[in-house]
Amino acid sequence: MIPYGHQWISEDDIAAVEAVLRSDFLTQGPAIERFETSVAEYCGAAYAVAVCNGTAALHLSCLALGLGAGSLLWTSPNTFVASANCARYVGADVNFVDIDPDTYNMSVDALAAKLERAERAGRLPTAVAPVHFGGASCDMAAIGELARKYNVRVLEDASHAIGGRYGDARVGSCEHSDMAVFSFHPVKIVTSGEGGMVVTNNAEIASYVRDLRTHGITRDTEKMRGVNVGGWYYEQLYLGLNYRMTDIQAALGTSQMTRIDEFVTRRNEIAARYIAALDGLPVRWQQVPEGVYSAYHLFVIELEQHRRAVVYDALREAGIGVNVHYIPVHLQPYYIGFGFSLGMFPNAEAYYERALTLPLYPAMTDADVDTVLAALASALA
Ligand SMILES: *Cc1c(COP(=O)(O)O)cnc(C)c1O
Repeated sequence: MIPYGHQWISEDDIAAVEAVLRSDFLTQGPAIERFETSVAEYCGAAYAVAVCNGTAALHLSCLALGLGAGSLLWTSPNTFVASANCARYVGADVNFVDIDPDTYNMSVDALAAKLERAERAGRLPTAVAPVHFGGASCDMAAIGELARKYNVRVLEDASHAIGGRYGDARVGSCEHSDMAVFSFHPVKIVTSGEGGMVVTNNAEIASYVRDLRTHGITRDTEKMRGVNVGGWYYEQLYLGLNYRMTDIQAALGTSQMTRIDEFVTRRNEIAARYIAALDGLPVRWQQVPEGVYSAYHLFVIELEQHRRAVVYDALREAGIGVNVHYIPVHLQPYYIGFGFSLGMFPNAEAYYERALTLPLYPAMTDADVDTVLAALASALA
């Protein structure tokens, strides 16, 4: 089986994890800050806070943006459910902005039109969460400009996109957003087993997320409301959670970060090999705009609608681990329960009916790519 995604673990990664296992700290030790520093420096962001997974990073970001009962988060319908669920965790409502049919990312035109209508209706979102689908950044300058115009906060779900670039900046620089969130699940660009991170240039957000990650507790005298009466003393300032990452995970993540450019370069080579071979076939694929360098978490093609299920089954049968990203979130039964229905986000719905994700991971060989392409060509013949 050629899987759709797979981690690439080196002997150095294993040695880094082993070193933590032989050290004094399995959690709350020095490996966490090392991982945070490596990601913040790589992305060009001022602060990074590591947490136990990407979903936790989204949840704490929603808390830090002040989302709660009565407020609203908008995201893309073409995403993993976590991008929407994070708002529900804090009691906020969710709505969606349809995608662009070429980039599969949130459409800036649809966002602009929806913001204008929302302002007139007096129901602007507190925050918008664009998702860098497949590793290709959304048009962040345009989204940032709209956000300033309507006084909306921006939370980038960059789970697919660490290692990608938008113009001269790395994804995660947060030049046009309040924060960005990464996931380090094994299918993503770099892995810590499970893991997530919030990156931001806002000191207050970073400090708040840091406290929320560990029960809302602080040992920082500056932040205390009472008097710091001794070394044992701490204060719980907010209702936080235990969303800590372990040092075992952080050591793996830091070791993986030393190879991130190698991973993303190889992902781009594989994507280029796919694109060169697909030119003659009746398929489309994700368009990466000028000025965007994709991290290529996913390589997605669109087939004629009636062929998708047949091609999916044929490739699976041939041992090719194809997948579909994503079933539109608003069509999940949980969200239908809030009144969403078929027809509300037609571009995301039409895209979903035709989408097929081909295998792509950095340890994939050119021969593996050619095996996938041959199986695809024969399924389409
Ligand atoms: C993977 C992913 C998440 C969640 O990350 P976890 O680390 O699995 O919790 C959120 N959003 C998107 C778009 C993802 O792909």
